Amino acid sequence: DLDATHDPQRAYDLDRAHVFHSWSAQGSLKPMVITKAEGPYIWDGDGKRLLDFTSQLVYTNLGHQHPRIVAAIQEQAATLCTVAPAYVNGARSEAARLIASHTPGDLNHVFFTNGGADANEHAIRMARLHTGKHKVLSTYRSYHGGTHLAVNVTGDPRRWANDNGSSGTVHFFGPFLYRSAFSATTPQEESQRALAHLEQVITLEGASTIAAIVLESIPGTAGIMIPPPGYLAGVRELCDRYGIVFIADEVMSGFGRSGRWFAIEHADVVPDLLTFAKGVNSGYVPLGGVAISDAIYATFAERVYPGGLTYSGHPLACAAAVATIRTMEDEETVAGAAWLGEDVIGPALAELAGKHDWIGEVRGTGAFWALELVADRETREPLAPYGGSSPAMAAVLTACREQGLLPFANYNRIHVVPPLNITEDQAREGLAALDAALTQARAAL
Ligand code: PLP
Repeated sequence: DLDATHDPQRAYDLDRAHVFHSWSAQGSLKPMVITKAEGPYIWDGDGKRLLDFTSQLVYTNLGHQHPRIVAAIQEQAATLCTVAPAYVNGARSEAARLIASHTPGDLNHVFFTNGGADANEHAIRMARLHTGKHKVLSTYRSYHGGTHLAVNVTGDPRRWANDNGSSGTVHFFGPFLYRSAFSATTPQEESQRALAHLEQVITLEGASTIAAIVLESIPGTAGIMIPPPGYLAGVRELCDRYGIVFIADEVMSGFGRSGRWFAIEHADVVPDLLTFAKGVNSGYVPLGGVAISDAIYATFAERVYPGGLTYSGHPLACAAAVATIRTMEDEETVAGAAWLGEDVIGPALAELAGKHDWIGEVRGTGAFWALELVADRETREPLAPYGGSSPAMAAVLTACREQGLLPFANYNRIHVVPPLNITEDQAREGLAALDAALTQARAAL
C-alpha cells in the first residue's frame, strides 16, 4: 500500500526505523522528507517549498518531473520494462547513438553502467587491459565514486576510511590557483607548474607501470576548479608521450552542466575514455557509462572484455536518456546553461562577493559555480576545515533553508548548481535568497 507512505511523518518514521543512509553516522541523522518536486522546486515534509540549487546531487539537469522524461519512462515501462544486456533494445541503441553524437572526437562506442563509480571502475579496467599496465594516477581534491577502486582513486576525505589496499592508485596535485600547491600567482604559472609536477610523478612512479590518468574535466564536489589554460592539453600530451590512457570523468561536469555538452570541450581536448552518469538522463533512473575511443574499442574487437552488469543499458534508464538528450537538443539547453553562467549567475555571484567578506573566491561556468567561503580574505583560512564543518557554515546552511533555498555545501564551500533549464527569474530568486542567507548567518553569529 504505497498510499500510506505519502504521509510525511510515516515516511520519516519508517526511514529512521529501517533505512541505512550513505556516508553518515546513522544514530544522529535527521534527514529531510521530500514529498513533491517540480522543475527547480521541492517541497519538504512540512509543505514548505524550497528552490533546489543542488539539482539533488548535481544531476536533475532538466529539473524535477520533466514531462518528456516522465512520459518516455512510462511509455517504455508499458512496452518493455527490461531485457538483459546481451539482447538488442531500441532505447539502448538510440541512447548510445545520441551519446556518441555529442561526445568529442572518436568516442563512438558506449558501455553502460548503473552509475558513475562503476563507470570509472570499468574505464580503469579497460585502460589496464589496453595498456598491459596497472597504476592509476588521479588528483587530490577529486571524487570518482564509492566502490572499492573508485573510492581509492578519489582524492577527498571519503577515501580515508576506505584506504585499505589501494590497488595501484597514486595521487598528485591538480591545478587550483586559489590554494596553489606550487606557490603560483598566475593561471599560466599554475598550469605549467602543475604539469611539471605531474611529469615528475610519472617519472618517479615509472611510466612503464602507469595505465591511466583519471581526471574530472572540471573537479566538481571538490570545488569546481576550472583548469587553467593549457593544463588539459598538457595532460593529453603527457599521456601520449608516456603511453597512458586519459580518462576524463564527466560524471558531474558532463551533459551541459558547464555550458558545453562535455566540460573537456572548453579545452578542445579528446580523452581516450570518458565516463558519465547523472545528467545523461537527469538521474530519473540510475544510468552511467563509458564512452570509448576507436583505439580502445579495437583492443576488444577480438579479445573478450571481461566485465558486465545485470542492468547494463537498462531500457527504462536508456529511454530516460533518449528523452533527456532530445529535449536538450530541442530546447538548446546547453547554450542556455552557458548563457545562465555568463549573464546571470556569474555576475550575480561577483556582486555578492563585493558585499560579503566571507566570499574568498567565486569560480565557475554554466550552471556549475562555487563560492569559496573564508574566515579571513588575507590568509584565505577556510570558513570550515578541510573535511569538516563549523558553526559559521552551519549557520549559512540553516539561513539558506529559512530563505527558501536548498543549498549544496561541501566543507567551506557553497555550490550553485541549479537545473540547467532554470528560468532567469528563478535563478535570481535563488541568488537573492543566498544573499539574504549570508547576511542573516553573519548577524546570527
Ligand atoms: N565521478 C564524479 C565526478 C562524481 O561527481 C560522482 C558522484 O558524485 C561519481 C563519479 C560517482 O558517481 P555515482 O555516485 O553515480 O557512483
